[in-house]
Amino acid sequence: MRKLILIKYASEIFLKGLNKKSFEQKLLTNIKRALKGLDYEFSIDQNRWLLYSENLEEVIERVRKVFGIKELDLVTEVDANLEAISEEALREIREVNPATFKVETKRANKKFPMNSMEASRKVGAYILRNSKDLEVDVHNPGVVINVEIREKAYIYSTSRRIKAVGGMPYKTNGKTMLMLSGGIDSPVAGYMMARRGVELSCVYFHSPPYTSERAKEKVKDLAKILKGYTGNINLYVVPFTNIQMAIINKCPEDELTIIMRRFMMRLACKLAEKNEIQSVTTGESIGQVASQTMEGLVASTEVADRPVFRPLISMDKEDIMDIAKEIGTYETSILPYEDCCTIFVPKHPKTKPKVHFLKKSEEALDVDKLVEEALENTELIRL
Ligand code: ATP
Ligand code: MG
Repeated sequence: MRKLILIKYASEIFLKGLNKKSFEQKLLTNIKRALKGLDYEFSIDQNRWLLYSENLEEVIERVRKVFGIKELDLVTEVDANLEAISEEALREIREVNPATFKVETKRANKKFPMNSMEASRKVGAYILRNSKDLEVDVHNPGVVINVEIREKAYIYSTSRRIKAVGGMPYKTNGKTMLMLSGGIDSPVAGYMMARRGVELSCVYFHSPPYTSERAKEKVKDLAKILKGYTGNINLYVVPFTNIQMAIINKCPEDELTIIMRRFMMRLACKLAEKNEIQSVTTGESIGQVASQTMEGLVASTEVADRPVFRPLISMDKEDIMDIAKEIGTYETSILPYEDCCTIFVPKHPKTKPKVHFLKKSEEALDVDKLVEEALENTELIRL
């Protein structure tokens, strides 16, 4: 008798038809990556993914964070005979101690001498014989005891089910360039895209000496936390000082922020293009700050040449903060290092910028040259 975990992956993967195999393959690779350095045994028995380890707690902790896994069941493996199964089922019931229960059996091993219905009935009867104040309820049971009969038998109850992160296997849904600042929102936005299987690269706009080396380190640290979920991430650090200076010197003060946003968007798109990344992601949320009005979003999207995803667009700050805490980025995000947007904040930023006015203001700048120079001096950090 030993304890194992049974991995249940997201039902969306089942719907992938011919692609199902490649989704499973990716998921498997990602699970193995997550378990690197641990001793474990992995087995697949007709779509049943089972993991055994001496260090099951650590295995659970790591596997439940792998995107695409919906839940984990803690199962007990016993010999495939009725006595052993009944005894383990009874032990499990006693531990959970529900008022009602139901036994569900799946028999994959056709050599087992009775069918699923009979096995469920026999195990149920054994449990009833050995318990007080316990009833069967087939419609709304307090606990379902699952019995799977294969070469060995596996017993588990729904009450011990462990919720995992869900989503889709990482790297199964294209690529995005995440605009990663040191704030609370953008790491959460990146996490949410990665959770849906989208491969992340990150770009950070750095304005030395106005933003310090420590601010850059903080962004690196945030990318490293995301890496815990995704594996290797490329972080592009784009020098942004010259662009900001040019804007400050040549454009109307109330348009600084929004013109700066447009430059960030142009650069993110160009970097994406260069690296064959189809989309851009930001941590914007509608109405959160002056630059995140509908008009502001329209103005920055106008310079984009590919889809811009804003997974937080309809979320409240508090909910975003909750996710940041859950995924472990919050504590780093709230470290008080300056970011390039807080340094040059206009006193009265335009909240309803009109694209044609912005274009007019940008005529004072050599936009292409500024973008080209920033790209030429971009640093790639492989994390
Ligand atoms: P965050 O908490 O993600 O910094 P925020 O609420 O502070 O967001 P803004 O500063 O207006 O909002 O930035 C909006 C979005 O623009 C960010 O979520 C991020 O995607 C991007 N962004 C802002 N500053 C930078 C930067 N220096 N480098 C990269 N991306 C940035
Ligand atoms: Mg910010």
